[in-house]
Amino acid sequence: MNRSEVAAILGVISAIDPKVPAPDEDVLSMWAGLLDDVPGGVAGEAVRAYYRSERYAQTREPIAPGDLVGYWRRKRREDADRRHNTELRAHHRRRPLDDRQLCTIRDGVDQVAATLAITKGADPEHAEADAHARRAYRAVACPYCKARPGDPCLGPGGRPLSRQPAHPSRLDVAFANTA
Ligand SMILES: [Zn+2]
Repeated sequence: MNRSEVAAILGVISAIDPKVPAPDEDVLSMWAGLLDDVPGGVAGEAVRAYYRSERYAQTREPIAPGDLVGYWRRKRREDADRRHNTELRAHHRRRPLDDRQLCTIRDGVDQVAATLAITKGADPEHAEADAHARRAYRAVACPYCKARPGDPCLGPGGRPLSRQPAHPSRLDVAFANTA
């Protein structure tokens, strides 16, 4: 809050609370120095909450700058908790793909690859065989580059291989499995 916002809040407080006189310049400077990082809207909420509270009803103590700062800190903590909980809930809603979904995606990729090969003029049977081979080697891990099942083989620099579908030893494992 800047000085004029603090003056407005203190005006409200002195109107509500008979124990608080209208602020003079010194009081204003003191409060402004203590509340410079508290947003004006939050200070208004804090004043309202304080003068409606059990504590005020019982003690009739005037509100102090520390009450405004305390209110603002609690509010920031609660807002942070709420954001954190919302993120947690959103995270739980994003469940990882299950095996069935992964298979559907992999089959889709194989079909697209086969279709592309056909439209490029390749022999349909050959294209199908390619897609089948891709499915077969994708099902096993690569003993050479350690690509996991479902992941492409990686060449030097960590890029997927471009000249061959997979490392020969992976193809060997895949064909040994299908034979
Ligand atoms: Zn590999």
